Amino acid sequence: MIARARRELLIPGIVVGAIIAIALAVPLLPLPDPTGMDVAARLSPPSALHPLGQDEYGRDVLSRILWGARTSLFVASLAAAAAAVAGTLLGLLGGYFRGLVELITLRFAEIILCFPPLLLALLVVTLMGPGAATLIVALALLYAPGFARVCFAETLAVRELDFVTAQEALGARANRILGRTILPNVAPTLLVQFSLTLAAALVLESGLSFLGLGVVPPAPSWGLMIRGARSTMEQAPWLLLWPCLALSGAVIALNVLCDRLRDAFDPHAGHVGTGWLWKRVPAQPAATAQGTEKPSLMRVDGLSIEYGAVRLVRDVSLRIAPGETLAVVGESGSGKTLTALALLGLLPASLRLAAGTLLFTDRNGQVRDLARLDEAELRKLRGGEIAMVFQDPAASLNPLHRVGNQIAEAIRAHGALSRSAATKRAIALLRDVGLPDAQRRARAFPHELSGGQRQRALIAAAIANEPRLLIADEPTTALDVTIQAQILALFAALKTRSERLGILFVTHNLAVVAEIADRVCVMYAGEIVEEGPARELLYQPRHPYTAALIASVPEGGARRLAAIPGVVPLPSALPSGCAFAPRCRYAGLQCTAAAPPLEIIAAGRASRCIKWREIS
Ligand code: SF4
Repeated sequence: MIARARRELLIPGIVVGAIIAIALAVPLLPLPDPTGMDVAARLSPPSALHPLGQDEYGRDVLSRILWGARTSLFVASLAAAAAAVAGTLLGLLGGYFRGLVELITLRFAEIILCFPPLLLALLVVTLMGPGAATLIVALALLYAPGFARVCFAETLAVRELDFVTAQEALGARANRILGRTILPNVAPTLLVQFSLTLAAALVLESGLSFLGLGVVPPAPSWGLMIRGARSTMEQAPWLLLWPCLALSGAVIALNVLCDRLRDAFDPHAGHVGTGWLWKRVPAQPAATAQGTEKPSLMRVDGLSIEYGAVRLVRDVSLRIAPGETLAVVGESGSGKTLTALALLGLLPASLRLAAGTLLFTDRNGQVRDLARLDEAELRKLRGGEIAMVFQDPAASLNPLHRVGNQIAEAIRAHGALSRSAATKRAIALLRDVGLPDAQRRARAFPHELSGGQRQRALIAAAIANEPRLLIADEPTTALDVTIQAQILALFAALKTRSERLGILFVTHNLAVVAEIADRVCVMYAGEIVEEGPARELLYQPRHPYTAALIASVPEGGARRLAAIPGVVPLPSALPSGCAFAPRCRYAGLQCTAAAPPLEIIAAGRASRCIKWREIS
């Protein structure tokens, strides 16, 4: 696909290259002076000496067309480039930072868009006087808002993708994320916008020159030539034909070239057909079941997350000790991923950490509340002391960068290693996570790797800076069963290699939990409903929801699989009393009277069910 796209680039590339080469080489060509008049020979038809004839002042039309190309292309290119730089900057900043930055950048662009284009151009020409420099300023001012809006929309779409969140989780700075991650991904769309702008600028330059507001006569320009030919079109119609052909030919060639460029430089075009981007495709301590208080690596108390007035995660408390793997289990919508994202300060902008403390013990033994750290301090921890592996490896790697470079970036974000040293380390890490032929895989783009290989690459990036806490958000969900087993074995190997590595493993799959977890927190409708050591909890659940989850997987030991009836309730419409009551086969009248507390039922175990003794 890519090879074909690049072949298709050839012809428009040659045409546009020829136009630009001729425009640049015009002073070297043996052409008559484009302003030299020969009134006696005015309106002469094409001849051997003047292949395109002579205009109303007897000037050589071919010479004026070629010199005009130089003027028109120069003005249009500079104006489009200036508009692209200014608009892209406004769009990127507004789309990434949102809030006040968005207000300033995008509203500024929209104010300019309120002016009719010609009126704005007239205003600039009136203020600055006609001429090529004025045209460049006017056109750049006209087209920059278009770039800003397109870039803003694309940045909004790209910043929600997993690989941007993954970069943030690795601790990359905003400027690097914008320049290395977001910009390359919005570039194909901007390239198309550039082609449209260049073509539109060529047309508008000609239009303004035609109206006498652009290039000043006798300097040649296509617009001036059309203007001059208008009065003599009955006697010499070819004078109108040549500049019109030149203008439309250049516009068409530019549009075709930029379409092909977009297709050719999309490294995963072969995977997604015409699409260029993988759009899919982030107080008082509550009761805890932590019986024996080990020294905590991570201690979460009373975490609540809100969307407006709706509480999505309610009063979650959990502990992770060094070297321990805590699995957080639940169906979609249970709040497990939000809990994980909150630890890294990566909650979507629309959500708010309403309450809770997130105490993390760093390498120096200092206990820090992640909920109170500012963005710069969090960034130092992300990818350094705390790393994250996301669910979908295809969406979590930037499709436009080689895998090795992305891991090297993660290393360099937290150290002073040179690019080549970081690349060597990236290759060693890929080897460590069991990727065969690591050197070659490091040079591959993400789409050239299988799902399992991509997940290994992501894990390599996550462990690059030897984190103390690794958060894995459903890292095996997008993989087939064989690869899932390999990835779980890799996590087990990581723990063996680094005995003090704490892992928070988010999953909906209790079979996976049995493989990897030391302790388990089961979440339902935004709160923890059961907690305990993995083995005890799996063999003797003390909450109907846990029991139902176990019964729904073959590894649960149930004689037949049983789906849990109903769905997780919406956070805005929770039932009164126990949130699980509508789906619970043990539910009784007392269950709906009041929300049951998380009760400590044994050392290290807790259940949010008033009938926990009856659960079998
Ligand atoms: S409190 Fe009642 S409804 Fe809730 S899980 Fe226990 S038995 Fe079921």
